[in-house]
Amino acid sequence: MDEKLEVQCPNPNCRAQLGYIVMIENLEWLQMGGGIARQWHGVCAKCGKEFHWSVSDRILEKIIKQALKD
Ligand SMILES: [Zn+2]
Repeated sequence: MDEKLEVQCPNPNCRAQLGYIVMIENLEWLQMGGGIARQWHGVCAKCGKEFHWSVSDRILEKIIKQALKD
């Protein structure tokens, strides 16, 4: 684990720090507190905004973005 990317609340008026993206074996994972997650579904502890994240969604997002570029 080298570079940590901050994950923020999707609510533009809140932007609380929810966790970090960490790179392990060239894959992005979500670090929430002391645990590393493959997926996370919950709400922001500060404002209650829904927050969903998953490894497979991130991979899909990259594939689609690459396809749109080509
Ligand atoms: Zn929030």
